[in-house]
Amino acid sequence: MRLFDAHNHFHYPIIQEAGLPELLQTLEEIGLRKAVVNGTTEEDWTKVHDLAEEIDWVLPSYGVHPWNIHETSPQWESTLIRHIEEGCGIGEIGLDRGRAEASFDRQVPIFRRQLEIAADQNLPTSIHCVKAWGPLLEIFQEGPLPERGFMLHSYSGSAEMVDQLASLGAYFSFGATILYSDKTRALEAFTKVPPDRLLLETDAPNLLPPDNRIAYRLPKESANHPANITSVYQSAAERLGKPLEDVVSQIEENFERFFLK
Ligand SMILES: [Zn+2]
Repeated sequence: MRLFDAHNHFHYPIIQEAGLPELLQTLEEIGLRKAVVNGTTEEDWTKVHDLAEEIDWVLPSYGVHPWNIHETSPQWESTLIRHIEEGCGIGEIGLDRGRAEASFDRQVPIFRRQLEIAADQNLPTSIHCVKAWGPLLEIFQEGPLPERGFMLHSYSGSAEMVDQLASLGAYFSFGATILYSDKTRALEAFTKVPPDRLLLETDAPNLLPPDNRIAYRLPKESANHPANITSVYQSAAERLGKPLEDVVSQIEENFERFFLK
């Protein structure tokens, strides 16, 4: 199978400590073709860059995550622009009214600036949003937005917002959340997403699948192995009532259109 992970953090030490050769072998065995690896701090960007040089399935993505805004240097913007000149995406960026240290007022201009850079260069962008859907929608409506659209990672907005966001150019990415039967809000939204706007992800090492659906384990058992993208694909097929092969080819098409063109 040809699998595509739209959002992870493969460079995190908690994954890397499993040993690169073994990780690469497992990911080759499951058929991983591409994964978007998101650096979330300036320090991270160098690590993501180095991995992308070494591994051909790594698509590097650079951004300041709302959780890391409080630790940015005054030069973050010029450093970001230097990184994206090498060809890549912007992310993970976003807004978070749940657990970010930086105030919401501080988050908004930094998010806007990064979205503007993405729009300016028409780059694929990975967006995190927690409890900030109203303000996010306003920012999208004001624009500018990348012509290719933008991706809402681990979508947690309502099912009702799906159409409106899709008309603004949204792609919706889902991870292990869809493996949990009690995540009714996410599941409802998941089934509303237009087939050509759906993407799948692990967010590894975050978002571990439920215990009985963990196919691959890292040395640190609370961390999610990126090869668990297999479980996300299986669950997506089950929830959509479609053959796995159909989901696999639809995701490949969507991933290529959004990230690789
Ligand atoms: Zn993430």
